[in-house]
Amino acid sequence: MGKEEMDAFAINEVVSALTKIENLTLERNVSVAHLTRFQAGGNADILVHPHTSESAIELIRVVQKSRLPLTVIGCATNILVSDRGIRGVTCRLFPGLGGLRRDGNSLFCQAGVSLSDVAAFAARHSLGGVEFAGGIPGSVGGAIFMNAGAFGGSMSDVVHRTTFIDGDGCLREVVGEEHDFGYRHSLFVGLEGSVILETELRLEFADLPFIYDKMAENAYRRYKSQPLDAYSAGSAFRRPEGYFAGKLISDAGMKGYRRGNAGVSSKHAGFIVNHGGATAEEIVQIFRDVRTAVYDMEGVILMPEVRLVGEWDDDPFAFES
Ligand SMILES: Cc1cc2nc3c(=O)[nH]c(=O)nc-3n(C[C@H](O)[C@H](O)[C@H](O)COP(=O)(O)OP(=O)(O)OC[C@H]3O[C@@H](n4cnc5c(N)ncnc54)[C@H](O)[C@@H]3O)c2cc1C
Repeated sequence: MGKEEMDAFAINEVVSALTKIENLTLERNVSVAHLTRFQAGGNADILVHPHTSESAIELIRVVQKSRLPLTVIGCATNILVSDRGIRGVTCRLFPGLGGLRRDGNSLFCQAGVSLSDVAAFAARHSLGGVEFAGGIPGSVGGAIFMNAGAFGGSMSDVVHRTTFIDGDGCLREVVGEEHDFGYRHSLFVGLEGSVILETELRLEFADLPFIYDKMAENAYRRYKSQPLDAYSAGSAFRRPEGYFAGKLISDAGMKGYRRGNAGVSSKHAGFIVNHGGATAEEIVQIFRDVRTAVYDMEGVILMPEVRLVGEWDDDPFAFES
């Protein structure tokens, strides 16, 4: 059997096993661009949406036992999918795994629940601590993976205990410091093949007007400074030590820069945007142009915060100074 035949055989085997799982939706050879905030990229060989934790666990174990790669996504607001698409199985946890419940000052959130829902739910129960997350357009799973944060708060401030399935299909739990949170970093970045399923956030009781004021203030600051209606993945680059990426890009004359259908936002230089119809390759080219301009000006190598997903030739983010 040739490689292509073997791949087709493996895909058919996995599809046949996955279709036996209850509470799961499956599509084959389907475009995922419209599911991502960048609105770019190719097709997923197999796209699955689990609707319960049980179906998620079962499907992850089926894929792990096969030789197909597994890609997990939440709201897809921090990823760029290759134009060649995603091989193997892509498991989208948003919105299916969207359970949210409260017990005292703890919120138990499934990985696919959106951060805006978490912040609104917490506010309704007079629980403070996640106001910072209200305007971050991601899911709880993606936010833990990235240790998302804004306006002085981050997931590391509120996450207490996380349940996940590791690369060997075992259910595991981490508590407190075991999450190894850092700047846009968590334990899960280094745990190949692990999938976050649920987390417990520990919050503080607070006055409702105080919580709503904070959320409104954060929303206004975002609205004033960020291109919220653009196709982007938020801040394109990590904050380099001692600098702000947006200011460096602006100072290098790249604010509003455009090449083809992609470019740098003219509202916030830290955002790389798809003006409509851009390919992933066009978007990557903007990353390259921006990095070169900033390096030539200041000698600083900007590191992308956006994560690449799917089949790429080499590392498109490799930087040669
Ligand atoms: C307009 C805009 C504003 C933004 N503002 C902010 C901000 O203020 N602060 C900030 O930190 N970020 C910001 N972001 C980036 C992004 O929203 C966050 O990083 C968010 O937490 C990503 O969540 P997601 O569900 O979209 O993850 P995805 O983009 O789907 O995935 C991101 C990474 O997490 C992994 N992942 C996702 N879910 C799981 C899971 N359940 N288990 C294991 N791995 C998983 C994926 O494999 C991928 O590597 C912004 C983005 C946009 C578009």
